[in-house]
Amino acid sequence: MTTENIPEEARYTVAWTPNSALVRWPCVVCGGETDRQDILAVAYAGSQSRENEIGMVCDPCVDAGAAAVAARLTQWAERLESQAAEVRRWAAASWQFLTEESWQFLTEEQKLDLPRWDWEGRDPLRRPSSASRNS
Ligand SMILES: [Zn+2]
Repeated sequence: MTTENIPEEARYTVAWTPNSALVRWPCVVCGGETDRQDILAVAYAGSQSRENEIGMVCDPCVDAGAAAVAARLTQWAERLESQAAEVRRWAAASWQFLTEESWQFLTEEQKLDLPRWDWEGRDPLRRPSSASRNS
């Protein structure tokens, strides 16, 4: 299939763009992130225009080039699928929160410190017995 046969919505463009926000941006190709840099490679769905912008491309992906994009996107998708499978296993598990046994790893000093931490209105000493009292 030649480039001319690919519909506009399935063609992506990467172009250098000046950048004024010196932060790390997520990379839309590998799931990594850019450096803090003055000029960024920006990916566009279709032609290069602000409304077509889909995100940034990190330097390693730029260096790898267009021929490696499909492989890098596929590797990222496989990592996400693996992470999603792990989160689904966690979701299917039974969770116990703040049982008496969970306190065993705190020192006596840490247990005494708990009420002094900033818990934004939550009760750090909540235990199953007091939680059921509130319901
Ligand atoms: Zn990347």
